[in-house]
Amino acid sequence: MTARRLLLTNDDGIYAPGLVTLANRLHEAGYPLAVVAPDRERSSVGHALTLNRPIRLWEAERGHYAPGVDIFGCDGTPSDCVVLGMEVIDPTVDLVVSGINRGPNLGDDLTYSGTVSAAMEGVILGKGAVAVSLNCQRSEAQNHYETAAVSALKILDWLGENALSRGTLLNVNVPNLSLETIEGFMVTRKGLRTYEGKVTEFRNPHGALSYWIAGKPEDDMAEGTDVWAVAHGLVSVTPIHMDMTHFPSIRFLKEKGLEALGPDTPRR
Ligand code: MN
Repeated sequence: MTARRLLLTNDDGIYAPGLVTLANRLHEAGYPLAVVAPDRERSSVGHALTLNRPIRLWEAERGHYAPGVDIFGCDGTPSDCVVLGMEVIDPTVDLVVSGINRGPNLGDDLTYSGTVSAAMEGVILGKGAVAVSLNCQRSEAQNHYETAAVSALKILDWLGENALSRGTLLNVNVPNLSLETIEGFMVTRKGLRTYEGKVTEFRNPHGALSYWIAGKPEDDMAEGTDVWAVAHGLVSVTPIHMDMTHFPSIRFLKEKGLEALGPDTPRR
């Protein structure tokens, strides 16, 4: 049993069932952990940090958390929670676990996700990080958080023996199935998910035109992608690297003379 210390957070709020289920399961498995999570839903805030006002952090009511789990509420974003969790609550943390998110983080959606961004913040701060999402709907009645919690535990145990390369996190998406019906684990690449009818126009009660961004997801079902794996009953594990530089383009831009554009010539 490893003694690695975990910092848990999410973007659905501190009492969201996904986070509570994950914290209790990992605590039961013997992982020392602290929960530092937003006091309200912060889904799709991306990687935002709160820089324009003070942030509050407090010991939160236990709710359904198991005795022995340290829980702190925060009125900031998921990334704020990671920063404060490491700077204020437990500087000895060596792994950030974010989730279990209510809903998937597949394809390019991970760039909007507070859940995945919190894991990115862990990587930026030099720690290991795992984001865990359940491919479920918003209604809680038939959500298999336990499947995702057990999957996360298996991955954390695996990480105890196998270190990820620096700057890398794991984006884990779990099918919304009972544990017995999961087909297995698959290492995947980020897939493509677009949204049909992304903007809905309507009039608000005052008659002003308003817009709602949502839409129906449409996936490019290429084999080996995250969307393909989850659709086939597999736990999708995508290694995500934080260096967004597109290295082949460096050569292209240089060869095609982009650097010859400067220095400035006088404008007339
Ligand atoms: Mn969420």
